Amino acid sequence: MSSAWVSEAIHRIERDFQRSADTHLILVELPGFPGIRFYLKDESTHPTGSLKHRLARSLFLYGLCNGWIREGSTVVEASSGSTAVSEAYFARMLGLPFIAVMPRSTSPAKVAQIEFYGGGCHYVDQPTAVYTEAERLARERGGHYMDQFTFAERATDWRGNNNIAESIFTQLRAEPDPEPRWIVVGAGTGGTSATIGRYIRYHGTASQLAVVDPDRSVFYDYFKTRDPALKAEGGSDVEGIGRPRVEPSFEPGVVDRMIRVPNAASYAAMHVLARLVGHKYGGSTGTNFCGVLEIAAEMKARGETGAIVTLACDSGDRYLDTYYSDTWLSASGYDIAPHVARFERACATGTLTA
Ligand SMILES: *Cc1c(COP(=O)(O)O)cnc(C)c1O
Repeated sequence: MSSAWVSEAIHRIERDFQRSADTHLILVELPGFPGIRFYLKDESTHPTGSLKHRLARSLFLYGLCNGWIREGSTVVEASSGSTAVSEAYFARMLGLPFIAVMPRSTSPAKVAQIEFYGGGCHYVDQPTAVYTEAERLARERGGHYMDQFTFAERATDWRGNNNIAESIFTQLRAEPDPEPRWIVVGAGTGGTSATIGRYIRYHGTASQLAVVDPDRSVFYDYFKTRDPALKAEGGSDVEGIGRPRVEPSFEPGVVDRMIRVPNAASYAAMHVLARLVGHKYGGSTGTNFCGVLEIAAEMKARGETGAIVTLACDSGDRYLDTYYSDTWLSASGYDIAPHVARFERACATGTLTA
């Protein structure tokens, strides 16, 4: 049943899209890898600062078109991160109350970002309780639980319609290698890898998809074993990627290869990348860059040339007190110096030592 309010809500989101520019695809040249071109899809420039802007837009449109979100619906999400920030933005645009359900340990900086867009925060003591609590809260208020971890893979039009994959391939069209050999991404919901992987197959491009996975995440083992009961403890400590349970939105069948990346390497790669491109990006971008260097070194050793694309998922401004802070790194037991040296050598020589 359609209503004037729903039509207007969809129209408002479309107008926001019309006003938005596409994100840049930045070419990065590394002297150690002649013949291999690196591209960074900079998702930090969306109005809410991360690739979750795309997801939040898709989830709202999906919920509206399904009749799940109506005038006055309280929208609830299980997220303490970028998804809650972007959803709070769209909820405010539609005049809907928004509540993010998060662990009590969530940093005040995150809470402040969600509240900046008018969202409310609801705390739980057990991090694993966020899903059931979000569902309960939405039911109690007659609202809608967005459930990013279930719906991310299906709320986006993976065949095209300006999704992230179509945007990347369009921007590569005039490049020497318009079909990259590899696209490297991380997985949080798994929505991004599902969209890119399906797009590659549907359009018959020769590109392969690699997914990088941080410490304390189940995705890597799930890819190998396909055991849906896998669990991990402690949280990945790379904001946005790595999950303690196998999320329904992660589709391993679209992934060609997975690469495990230790967190110290991810943090080191953020620092190295920041020096290379003159911009600080977040932790998951560091994890991506580790995967890129590993693949590039293999390509070079085999005498291959071509392009590698990866994502800059959010800005480093969000992590100045954590991943970019020497105090935080040493207090958390991470020694990034050996990895920084390895990656700098790799950029200069094209060889990545163990
Ligand atoms: C969500 C997120 C990712 C992973 O994207 P998914 O589509 O959820 O798999 C990577 N980096 C950041 C910063 C994120 O917020």
